Amino acid sequence: MNDSTPDPALLRPPIPAPLWLLAELTYRCPLHCPFCYNPVDYVKERAELTTRQWFGVMRQARQLGAAQLGFSGGEPLLRDDLEQLVGEARRLGFYTNLITSGIGLTEARLGRMKEGGLDHIQLSFQDSTREMNDFLSSTKTFDLKMRTARLIKQYEYPMVLNVVLHRFNLDHVGRIIEMALEMGVEYLELANTQYYGWGLVNREQLMPTREQLLQAEAVVNEMRSRIGNRMRILFVVPDYFEQRPKACMNGWASVFLGIAPDGTALPCHAARSLPGITFPNVRDVSVKDIWYASGAFNRYRGNAWMKAPCSGCPEKDKDFGGCRCQAYAMTGDAENADPVCAKSPQHGDVHAIVMHAQRTQKEQPLRTILFRTDANSRKIV
Ligand code: SF4
Ligand code: SF4
Repeated sequence: MNDSTPDPALLRPPIPAPLWLLAELTYRCPLHCPFCYNPVDYVKERAELTTRQWFGVMRQARQLGAAQLGFSGGEPLLRDDLEQLVGEARRLGFYTNLITSGIGLTEARLGRMKEGGLDHIQLSFQDSTREMNDFLSSTKTFDLKMRTARLIKQYEYPMVLNVVLHRFNLDHVGRIIEMALEMGVEYLELANTQYYGWGLVNREQLMPTREQLLQAEAVVNEMRSRIGNRMRILFVVPDYFEQRPKACMNGWASVFLGIAPDGTALPCHAARSLPGITFPNVRDVSVKDIWYASGAFNRYRGNAWMKAPCSGCPEKDKDFGGCRCQAYAMTGDAENADPVCAKSPQHGDVHAIVMHAQRTQKEQPLRTILFRTDANSRKIV
């Protein structure tokens, strides 16, 4: 480099601070959803971070500029120190969100968390019917979740309900919306299954038909106009049925910092499925070095890593080439365009997967679903 050549590091746009810290406190969960995004080999994880270690992670992330903190899992309520973590997060100035199945949320615990400053709770249901809810979670938890929903209202939290959609419950979408209205939900997230983790293993069983999706979308639109502002409904069509990919995580290591139960730092929930990347651990490396300097977090930042067709595409700064994990899972190369994109040479494979799932659903009896259980995870390991 001569004197007139600018240092390439100075030409790179500055790295923005992480805004959203997701603390996956534990992979333990009393439920067994077949669409769970936790890693399928979660049983092999190292020990969970201690309370003190989580305090350190939160303090460091807050110093970097993170403003929002989600407590999730697994089921975060299985951590006895959740109230302490909530209290510390509030002391540090985070806006806090508890993402829960509701199992284990007693009035005493909710009271303590309210007092500790918890801002927001997102409760998940598997379906509007007891039968399907309990079948999909492989537990008898529907009535318990109903009680939890009432408790959340009683403590005057805004009610945010999340229901993951797939071929088993898409036809119930109208009833799910009615249930949410009866519960006093302010914000309903109808999240079509993302095919990562256990969802990828069960993709063939969970994939809806296009007709189911169109029908569900029509029901949602009709009910939206009837309900008006009483409840906001988010309904996102699964990306396998789209022509363009989602702007995954708003770009790799752009706003999101996830910490797995064992302290592994991740730029997205599923990133550990990518081969050849060593993700740093907060036990060994500071959060600042992880975010700004680690190879893993810089790997797919920006767009310099892109290949054709993304590298020459005018949309590359809008969707960031889609999802790296999906590109790897479906094409074997994480640097390829997400094959959901119609410009990807592998886009036909996505269509083939959808068609294959629909054919087998019609022609064969439903293949066995693999529930998220420790025993199944051990088998996969
Ligand atoms: S998706 Fe189901 S099994 Fe997975 S963490 Fe959430 S409640 Fe537990
Ligand atoms: S080619 Fe790449 S950047 Fe362009 S729209 Fe498709 S995924 Fe996005």
